[in-house]
Formats: sequence, structure tokens, C-alpha cells
Amino acid sequence: MLHLLSLKALRERLQKREVSSVELTKHFIDRIAKFSDLNAFISVDEEGALASAEDADKSLTKNESGNLTGIPIAHKDIFCTKRLRTTCGSKMLSGFTAPYDATVVQRLANAGCVTIGKTNMDEFAMGSSNETSFFGNVKNPWQTSRVPGGSSGGSAASVAARLIPAATGTDTGGSIRQPAAFCGLTGLKPSYGRVSRYGMIAFASSLDQGGPLTRSAEDSAIMFNAMGGFDPKDSTSIERPIPSVNELLDLDLRGLRLGLPTEFFDSSVDTAVLGSVREALQILEKRGAQLVDVSLPNSAAGIPCYYVIAPAEASSNLSRFDGVRFGHRSEQADSLLDLYECSRAEGFGEEVKRRILIGTYVLSAGYYDAYYLKAQKIRRVISDDFKKAFEKCDVIVGPTTPSTAFKIGEKTQDPVSMYLNDIFTNTVNLAGLPSLSMPVGLDGSGLPIGMQLIGRFMDETSLIGTAHQFQLETDWHERCPEDFA
Ligand code: GLN
Repeated sequence: MLHLLSLKALRERLQKREVSSVELTKHFIDRIAKFSDLNAFISVDEEGALASAEDADKSLTKNESGNLTGIPIAHKDIFCTKRLRTTCGSKMLSGFTAPYDATVVQRLANAGCVTIGKTNMDEFAMGSSNETSFFGNVKNPWQTSRVPGGSSGGSAASVAARLIPAATGTDTGGSIRQPAAFCGLTGLKPSYGRVSRYGMIAFASSLDQGGPLTRSAEDSAIMFNAMGGFDPKDSTSIERPIPSVNELLDLDLRGLRLGLPTEFFDSSVDTAVLGSVREALQILEKRGAQLVDVSLPNSAAGIPCYYVIAPAEASSNLSRFDGVRFGHRSEQADSLLDLYECSRAEGFGEEVKRRILIGTYVLSAGYYDAYYLKAQKIRRVISDDFKKAFEKCDVIVGPTTPSTAFKIGEKTQDPVSMYLNDIFTNTVNLAGLPSLSMPVGLDGSGLPIGMQLIGRFMDETSLIGTAHQFQLETDWHERCPEDFA
């Protein structure tokens, strides 16, 4: 049952030569093919993966291996790769192959990972359900009538279904944590600037951050340690080293103050979700953590603020897809202006167009002060709320999402109800803080429930450490959807 093993257990097997990287890689490639119905992958690179697995086996034999040598992983299809096309879930980039690897891709390859393929995602990472992908929606392995969350839904579904041991994702407003919650995984959104954005296709540059989707906090520490750290190619990258895996995991919960914001525990949240979060808090309390009440009074402004700033940045970032420099080129056009218009009309999907329109509107001369500038001021106020709360606590806790995974199609006609899914996650991106979602239970119909931990800027250690201590005592993170065990 190779697919049920943790990264650490896989590493041990590989190092003892009980299994080869080639065997392991084949095993996962077979599983991806067997469960292709989930639609979790956009591209699979069998040939390339087997070639790097052979290289990994050589290093393992020579004892030159690192933490991840020979372990197969997958990347969200937003990270540029030289070998495979990078579509970003869009028709616009369905024929695009990057001339270089993203730093994250490069670093994980340097750590010895074998890249098997690229996972499905909401188009340009805009969405909370993976239903905006040009390549079709992804199914949640826990119940295939449900969404896996988004936008990193393909990564989440594939890790949850054990099609891959770990995968990368990106989080602009919740896209690592929300799918982690919906699929029963541990998902880490690091502090802004911790993980290089070089080669990660930009959605909203001041909010985007890459991170791992894994089954446990321990796996998360291993992946984060390998993919993060200063990158001179990213001007917003922070020049501070990532703690070692042991430093990330060894945390004494005694005296750690967990802050419960009143705004996160209100009646809009499902009772099953609140129940599981409260039970998890009791477990942490038993291990010595202290629960304190805090307040984030401006949380309600998070969604409107995010949905001004993110589309504004997106409208600017996506202007490069003009059918000339990048992306799909229309056959219909007979003038330059026509070429821009037709290429963009044909290449982008509905949600992306909606965001471009909103973004262009809020940045336009007549409305800039009323919307964009005001949103920037609110962003500061939201950030200050967190600062004040952290005077009273070390980690902020609450549900990751108000509900468990919803049905496919349930929210596609109502964009605002879709946006409301990020109510607890997107303020964290506005403030640039690190945050992690971990599984803490199942609801009445057997769907995973996620709890969110939010830390001070640069303090991933308290998050991963707390989650690890919790996971030493519970087995929610080991639960696997029945048909995929
Ligand atoms: N669901 C949010 C959105 O649609 C967040 C997406 C993300 O984090 N990439 O914008």
C-alpha cells in the first residue's frame, strides 16, 4: 500500500532500497490513470517522471540523496514548467509551454522530487470550487457529487485520493486552505514573501503565495522547507531562511495562547463545523494551550475589500494575454484591435472576464478613489485588527470555511455566494500572514471539516508545530476516502 505512506515513511523505504523511485513513480502514475474520473490532472509526464525517477535511484544508491529524493509530487498548473505545458486552467494558455521552470519547481526538483504532472485548477486561480477550469471540474474523492474546493482543487483531490503523496498549490484568498478543508488535508499558506512567486502565473500579485497541500503537518514541514526561502528573482521575496523540519515540528503547546475571534464563531457557520473545531480546541487545551477570546472587528469588510483589490490586480496582470505576446490567438480578427478583442473574448472564461471588468472599473479614473483607494485603506484596518489580536494571543484559530464541501453546480449561478466561501480565509492574505488548515473531523455525511490556524508574520513554526502536536494525538489526517484506500 505504497500510496498510503507518509513522505517520511516513503523516504525511509527509498533510502533502505526497499522500494525504488521507478516503482513508486509507476505506482502513482497507474493510480492517476485508474482514477482519471476525478479529473484532478491536466497533464501527466510519464516519460519525464520515469527518467527523473531513474536519476533519483542512482543518487539513492550512491547515498547522495536529500529529504525528498525519489518521491513523486505534482504541481498546480499555475507553476511554469519547461517540460510540460502550463495552462493555468485556461483555454488562453492551453498551448503554452514556458521556457523556464518556476523557482518552486526548480527547488523541489533540486530536493530530488519526481514531478509526475500538473493538476487541474480554477481558471487563473479564480474560484472556490474548481468549476471555472477550461479543463472541466474536479470531483471531491470523499463524495464525487461534491466540489473539492478551489482554486487548487486538482492538487487537493489528488493528494486526498492518494494519487500523489504531496502537491503544490497557491493561495490568493484561500485557495490552499479551503480545498485542504474540503478534502481532509493539511494545507499551508506561508507568509507573503516566504515562497518565491517567480514562474508562478500572477493572479493578484500582492496576495498570491505558493505552498504545500499534504496529508499531515509533518509532510507540510518537509515540503515547505524544500520549496521556500529567499529568491533573488522575486523582488518581494524575504531574505530569511526557512526553519529546519525539526524546528518547524517541535513545539511545546504549554502556554501557547490560542485566540478565538468572536467573528469566526458565529451562527452562520454549520453546527457540525463548529462542533469539530471546538473538540479540536479541547484537545489542544489538554496539551497545555490556553484559549483566549479575541476580536477581529473588521472581518466582515474582508470579502468586499478582497473583491476590489484582487480583481484590480488581476485586470492589470491579465492584460499581457493579448494573443500577440502570450496566449490564444484568434483566427477571426482582421485588425490589431480586433485581434486583442477576439483573442481575449475566445480565450478567457466567464469568471475571469467578470474579474477583469470589475478590476478595470475600480481602477478607472472616475472610480479609483471610491473603490480601489478605499479598499486599500480597509486593507490596512484589517491588518491592524490582526496586530491587535496578536497582542493577546500567539495563534488565531477558527473554522477554515463556514460549511463542508458543497455540491457541484450548487453555487455556479451565484458568484457572490461562491465568494462568501472565503470569508475566514481572505483577510489573512490581505494582511500577508501565514495560515494553515488541518482536518479536525467529519460532518454527518462523512465530509471533512477543516480548522484554520493563523500566525504572526513569518511564524509558520507555531502553525505547523501546533498542527503536528494535534496530529500526534488524533487520526483525522490519516482518514482516507473509502474508495481510494
Ligand atoms: N476563491 C478566491 C477567489 O476566487 C481565492 C482564490 C485563490 O486563493 N486563488 O478569488
